[in-house]
Amino acid sequence: MEFCQCKKPRPYKFLDMEITERVLPRGRRGINNKAKDYAVPIRAAICEHCDRPIYGPSEKKEIKLHINNQLRKEKGLLSPQEIIAIRKKLGLTVEQFAKYLKANPKTIYAWEANYCPSNLIANELIRIKCSDTYIQTNQGEIQQLKSAQ
Ligand SMILES: [Zn+2]
Repeated sequence: MEFCQCKKPRPYKFLDMEITERVLPRGRRGINNKAKDYAVPIRAAICEHCDRPIYGPSEKKEIKLHINNQLRKEKGLLSPQEIIAIRKKLGLTVEQFAKYLKANPKTIYAWEANYCPSNLIANELIRIKCSDTYIQTNQGEIQQLKSAQ
């Protein structure tokens, strides 16, 4: 797919189209043999000058979010909505939840904003530490986090 290369692209109409994005597995940048192509449906703005779709920051973001959702589904990972719901059920702020999981608050923000998918280990940890059974026997841990601030 050829995208607009104009210095000052001007959108004049929108088209629903499917673009193919090649994704390399994590930690394998530059190694092409395990790359996977994803067909991403987008509503693309078409440039008035060259009649090609504009690939700007908003398109980039839309494509990234779509691929993140695909990757998450393939691996059966928790969605941002599910992670937010789990955290709220515990009554924790993002910072408290990060401490609870021994994670960086930035990581939690990224998961919740759908900016990057979580991973299998983190998912397993969330499922275990946020299960009713675990919480019932470890009430003190959550209370401590809540009263620390
Ligand atoms: Zn153009």
